[in-house]
Order: sequence, then structure tokens, then C-alpha cells
Amino acid sequence: MSDDKPRSVYALPNEELEQQSKPQSVSKPRTQKPELPAERFQHIKFLDCDKPVSRIIFECWHCFQGILCEYTGEPIRGEYKGRPSIIQIQVQCPNCEQTAIRLNTGEVLSTTAIPSPWKQ
Ligand SMILES: [Zn+2]
Repeated sequence: MSDDKPRSVYALPNEELEQQSKPQSVSKPRTQKPELPAERFQHIKFLDCDKPVSRIIFECWHCFQGILCEYTGEPIRGEYKGRPSIIQIQVQCPNCEQTAIRLNTGEVLSTTAIPSPWKQ
């Protein structure tokens, strides 16, 4: 079966379309910005990145205790939910004993509480 008739395609006039799809109440007050997810900013400062033992200064996620951490080695690759993934080392805060930060590194050598450089 052959159907070689030229088909006529009608394009809808754009103007009409735009007018129809325009929202009626443009002057509606905008809704408030949604609150950002609970991702907080954490102060972190990397030192000696090019040395065998690197250091990092940061504030505890929970209590904002200043912490100096020495770490070394390559991140360990492991599995997370069946997928290869870098194991993050949880550094415990010397002050509140919660996880102060997670580091992608091989080994944490020391964790020292210091006065936070960011505290006024
Ligand atoms: Zn803490």
C-alpha cells in the first residue's frame, strides 16, 4: 500500500500558543526560597599535602572543636553496597567523641585538639 500524498502539516501559530499557556496570575508573590538541605559548611585547611605525612586542620562537625590531624597513605578502596568505593576514615573528636570528620586517606596517625583558628 502506497500513500504518497503530500501531507499537510499545520503548525499552530506560536503567538496563540504562548498566550494560552501563559499563567493567569503573574503577579503572584513568589514563594520563599526552600531551605537548603542540612549540609553545613565545615572549616577545613589542608597542610603539607605534598609530604608523606599530611596534616589537616578542621573544626569538629559537632562541637566546633579545632582539631589537627596527621594522616598518611592512599585511600583504601573497599566496597559499599556492592560497589567499589573509597573507604572514608572517621576521625573521632577528642572533645565530644563523635565523628568530627571523614577523610579519604589511608591512615590517621594522630588527632590533636587545638584552638580553632576560625574562632573569633
Ligand atoms: Zn567534637
